[in-house]
Order: sequence, then structure tokens, then C-alpha cells
Amino acid sequence: MIALVVGGVSAARASEHVPLPKPRPAAAPQASVAGAEPAETEPAPAEPAEPGTAPGATAPAAKPPSACRLALTEQIAIAPSIPDITGPGGCGGTDLVRLEAVVLPDGGRVAVSPAATVRCGMARALADWVRADIAPLATSLGSRAAALDNFDAYECRGRNRVRGAKLSEHGRANALDVRGIKLADGRMISLTDREAPRQAREAVMQSVCARFTTVLGPGSDGYHEDHIHLDLAERRGGYRMCQWALYEGLPEIAPAMPLPRPAEAPPREVAADDERGPQQATPPQPEAAEPVPAETAEREQAEPAPPPPPKPAKRAKAKAASKPAATKPIDLTPRTAPAAKPSVRGKPAPARPPA
Ligand SMILES: [Zn+2]
Repeated sequence: MIALVVGGVSAARASEHVPLPKPRPAAAPQASVAGAEPAETEPAPAEPAEPGTAPGATAPAAKPPSACRLALTEQIAIAPSIPDITGPGGCGGTDLVRLEAVVLPDGGRVAVSPAATVRCGMARALADWVRADIAPLATSLGSRAAALDNFDAYECRGRNRVRGAKLSEHGRANALDVRGIKLADGRMISLTDREAPRQAREAVMQSVCARFTTVLGPGSDGYHEDHIHLDLAERRGGYRMCQWALYEGLPEIAPAMPLPRPAEAPPREVAADDERGPQQATPPQPEAAEPVPAETAEREQAEPAPPPPPKPAKRAKAKAASKPAATKPIDLTPRTAPAAKPSVRGKPAPARPPA
């Protein structure tokens, strides 16, 4: 846009001495030099403003705006059209926009940060979602929606960044990966943070699963543990995918075996007293008196005591207050947060989204 204005100014200066070129026909191919356009400063026949076309939009010439484009007005989204993309392997798309912000019914804006290159239809779906579902959710949380944290939009690649895999909807500009929703008061609804308020995450999950044909989040395939994938893929029979497990509290990865006994632990007899009694805690070891082959002796020294017989249920329960729980299937029922839980909030985000 700046280049266009600058070019326009220089063209205007030149026009003082040079006869003006004829106005560019609508069907002409895209100009490669911005200065070749008629200067903005010269009086031009007033063209009727295209409803729904954002100013500065560079819609391909000779193509009438789509119904979607006409409907996606500045009252709904700041989403200037961008040229079609024709990439390798079927990548790209037509009727593309750069979705910069969603405009709420009250005129407030929810930024898409960074702006997302998506098809008009996807932009429209995202705008409808933010306007109808996210804005009221933010209000219910005592704030306003300020921004969508865009993790990835158009990108020419295979599914889950696997080389040779089927083209991702990202490659068709038909997908958006969202990490969270930023509120005006600075809070962030981090959609995959197991410590974020469950109610808010659940509300978002229900709204996206109703609006998008594909929703992939934590627990779906291992590629979506730190963001939510949304797309509008069309499948036979109208099949939809909504795979997003709302984890809570503790990470699902926990040691399956008891940890090695720490050196500073109290003597086993004392520690085991209340659980198993001294009899089991110090089993008689008649073989200790016998000569042991060197190799076995070494291994026994290096390794902690063999795991106890499978009777961990009571022990695990007893220590649940101070230790992470063992591996569990996805638990969707609310549960009170244990006293000591490892924080995942400070975890740095990966440099690139995996899917
Ligand atoms: Zn994705």
C-alpha cells in the first residue's frame, strides 16, 4: 500500500509533463509496477465502491467477487483479499484473504495474531465463531476477547508435516491452528493448558466442534498436544472429526514403576511400617550368605531392589497426595487438584508447530 502511494505520487509528478495514460482496463493483467497505476491524487471517475471489498484489496482482475467475499464485509472482519496461490502438489487456493481481525457486533475487534492466510469460507467461519461464541465467552469471564493466537494457517505441506503424507488442509488454506484466546485484561485462555479453567476450554471445544468439520487437539494423534487444529475439510457423508481431550491437572506421563529409593530416604523398616509391616519390608535373604557370581553381584548393586509384587494400589493411593499419579486413561471428570502438581505453564513453546 505504501509503495502504491509513493508510486502514485511520482506518477502524479510525471503527469505534469507527460500525457496521462488511459485508465487501466479492468481485464488487464496485474500490473507489476505500482507507479503504472493512475495516480491516486488525480480526479478519477468515481467508481461505485464494491460492497464487502476491503480497501487495498488486490483481488485478481477480471474475477467477480465471490458470494463469500461479498458477505465478508468490514463489519464482520478485516480481511483484505489476496491473490490466488498456486503451489506445488495441489497447494494453494482461490478466493483467499488475509484475516487480520474479526469485528464484533459492537464494533470491537479481535485480532488474529499473526494475520492468517485462509480461504474466504474459512475466514467467514472463523469470524462467525469469534462473534457468536468467543466474544460472549470472554464476556462471561469478565473481560473481552482481544486476540486469537494463530499458530499456523496456510502452509504448503503434508499432514502433520510428514513428508509425502496427504496434503494438509493447511496446504489448501482451509485450516487454522489456534493455541489460545487472549483477553483484553491480559489473561490468556490457553486451550491445551491442562491447568487452564476447564469450563472455558470445554465451551471452546463444543463451539468449534459444532462449527468446523475437523477439530484435533490433545489426545487426538500426538501432533496436537499444544494447539487446536480447525479446518473445513469436506468428507464423504458429511463426516466430522472432533478429537480433543480436555486433560486436567497432571500430565498423563508418569512413571509406571516405583522410582528408585532416594539415598536420603529413612530406613526401610520405618518407612514401610505403616504400609506393609516389617516382615515384608526386610525379607530374609538366605542366598546372601552364599557366594554370588561376580556379574550378578554387580548387577544387584547397580540396580535398586526389584519391584515389589503387584500390590501397588494401596501404596499409590497412600502417596497420591505428594506424588504424581500413575499413568491413566483420559479422565474427563472434574477432580480436585492434588497438592503438588508439576507446572507446565513455563514450558517453552516449540519453535515450529508440529501439525
Ligand atoms: Zn493444523
